[in-house]
Amino acid sequence: MINTNVKYLKGVGPKRALKLNRLDIYTVEDLLNYFPTKYEDRRKISNIIDVENDIKVLLRVKILKPPTIRKVNKKMSIIKVIASDDTSYITITFFNQDFLFDKLILNQYFYLFGKCKRIGSNIEMINPDIENVNESVKSGRIMPIYALTNSLTNNELTKLIMQCMRDYSAYIENILPNEIIDKYNLLNKKDAIRYLHFPPDGKKYTLAKKTIAFEKLLVLEIGLLSIKSKLNLSGEGIVQTNTSLSDKLFSNLPFKLTNAQLRVVDEIKLDMQSNKPMNRLIQGDVGSGKTIVAIIAMLISVSSGYQASMMAPTEILAMQHYQTIKEYLDKSGISLKVEFLSGSTTKKKKTEILRMVKNNEIDILIGTHALIEKNVEFNNIGLAITDEQHRFGVRQRAMLSNKGKNPDILVMTATPIPRTLALMIYGDLDISIIDEMPPNRQQIITKVIKGNDKEEAYEFIKKRIYEGRQAYIVAPLIEESETMELDSASEIYEKLKNDYFKEFNLGLLHGKMTNKEKDEIMDKFYNGEINVLVSTTVIEVGVDVPNSVVMLILNAERFGLAQLHQLRGRVGRGQYQSFCILVNESKSKHSKARMQVLQDTNNGFLIAEEDLKIRGPGDFFGSRQHGVEKYNIENLIQDIKIVQNVQLLTKDLLTHNPSLIGEEYKALKDKILKLFDKENIVFN
Ligand code: ADP
Ligand code: MG
Repeated sequence: MINTNVKYLKGVGPKRALKLNRLDIYTVEDLLNYFPTKYEDRRKISNIIDVENDIKVLLRVKILKPPTIRKVNKKMSIIKVIASDDTSYITITFFNQDFLFDKLILNQYFYLFGKCKRIGSNIEMINPDIENVNESVKSGRIMPIYALTNSLTNNELTKLIMQCMRDYSAYIENILPNEIIDKYNLLNKKDAIRYLHFPPDGKKYTLAKKTIAFEKLLVLEIGLLSIKSKLNLSGEGIVQTNTSLSDKLFSNLPFKLTNAQLRVVDEIKLDMQSNKPMNRLIQGDVGSGKTIVAIIAMLISVSSGYQASMMAPTEILAMQHYQTIKEYLDKSGISLKVEFLSGSTTKKKKTEILRMVKNNEIDILIGTHALIEKNVEFNNIGLAITDEQHRFGVRQRAMLSNKGKNPDILVMTATPIPRTLALMIYGDLDISIIDEMPPNRQQIITKVIKGNDKEEAYEFIKKRIYEGRQAYIVAPLIEESETMELDSASEIYEKLKNDYFKEFNLGLLHGKMTNKEKDEIMDKFYNGEINVLVSTTVIEVGVDVPNSVVMLILNAERFGLAQLHQLRGRVGRGQYQSFCILVNESKSKHSKARMQVLQDTNNGFLIAEEDLKIRGPGDFFGSRQHGVEKYNIENLIQDIKIVQNVQLLTKDLLTHNPSLIGEEYKALKDKILKLFDKENIVFN
């Protein structure tokens, strides 16, 4: 019943179902699990006499005079009506809502919710949300605000969820065993869902949030740890011990590896020597030198008689790796067959590469997710590396792994995550950390400025362009929707193009572009055809344009610190002094303190720790796509204690009852199996 397709709900036809589908809502269950991102407190009734300009309030008024309606033209009509409460009068204006005319009956009482305008002694409300007090649903309570796509309104979705809560909530079952619910003071799932949509008060809301976060985290954690233990138990990996090629590379390196790099190389060597498959994550800040570590690992694999592969999330990144590797090998006098495969490889070339990979005529294959397509068959892959993990998920990794007989797996990410959380978020992987930068790194100069000083920043960028450099301008992060984010980026782009940067070439990059479109823009930026790249946060991942020296971030206060740090890492990649300018539009002390952290340190791990303290752990969970579900828990976890409790509980469960035997665990187990690939889980 809870699996009922939304298109069969009362009031939902095929058209509206499609709109819901666009939000990834297909069943009643999906709908009930589509939680609000914000709330509107409509509990308190205000007095008209007390209202302030432009602040949303709830009023309870009586209609004093019959309404008037005026047709301004074919497209516009205006209803005006006068009402009052015990304290004062108010004029209410409705544009284009003719259907209200008959409902605004003299002497009847209504709730109004909206912003007021005070003009002299006159108080006016325009297009308020209006309800007859006898039929009121939304007034007197806390109302949800959902993240929406076009053409579905918050009202429609709220109504639909109310309807489903009424008709289907009986079918909501607990996934957590009662014992756990009691022990951690959680709610029943049914109540938790109800209170998250329609919280009666702050306390219940917090509990509901805790309950849902706890459940989702537990499912995630047991799933990930089970995968890990399966991988460790299943033994029979590949033993790779020959270091002749990597030794040769070593003796030809133009620099000395840092201690952190050396330590991680040792950890990898131990894994590769062992007959258990390696499943290791390298976490290292942008520029900490992960690539060379990856190359060393691939060389060990090749000299041990196997093939190695490396996958990156975009064509540009993959190409970058390909060129870097070729260069290192050339300089060290190592001749190997290295090839590149991506979506844009010609058919002829692709056929050729596939044949050679299969015949063991290619030693190292670099590419995009084209590497995990079915038709790519390795002869004997020993090592599969993926770069920039948060773009790939557990599932993709499993697909790579299945291309051989338990090859060693190495994952690399530049997102620093505090140690306490990393254990959980990367529960399926062993973790190595490169927490040291190569020496003599140039410091990026970071400056926080106020909104009013933006023009100076633009002038600063212009000067750099005249010197032959390039710059990034990042548009504000808009959490509600990607569409709105795009709108804002396009607007900024248009404005700058026609104004401050008239004489230059600007480019626009955003998440709604196809990979091909993105690559085209990035190519132009790379070649210097574009002077300034206006972008949403899509440039976060691994882009390397050494000539770009300014990173200007608008409304920086809306970003997480870790994210800002990632963005900053796009500059300072060449020989030129680089700058990061953060525009802080907020006046709050809190926001000032956060920005200050970035100005003060370049250490990604320190910044991540600060972010954890200031914003809570939620953000970090969003930074890894697990490929198992849209894990929309970022907004739910604000308390590190939940994370710690779940961690301890998972360990305890997997020690004492690894197969989750018992009727009380059935629902939990089913949920985990549903979300993770079954073959990766050990339950019997
Ligand atoms: P990331 O960890 O962001 O992938 P890269 O591997 O791209 O970083 O390394 C960034 C730059 O630092 C490269 O130009 C690389 O050659 C250089 N590099 C890496 N390790 C060292 C080192 N130990 N000493 C000096 N330079 C290094
Ligand atoms: Mg890298």
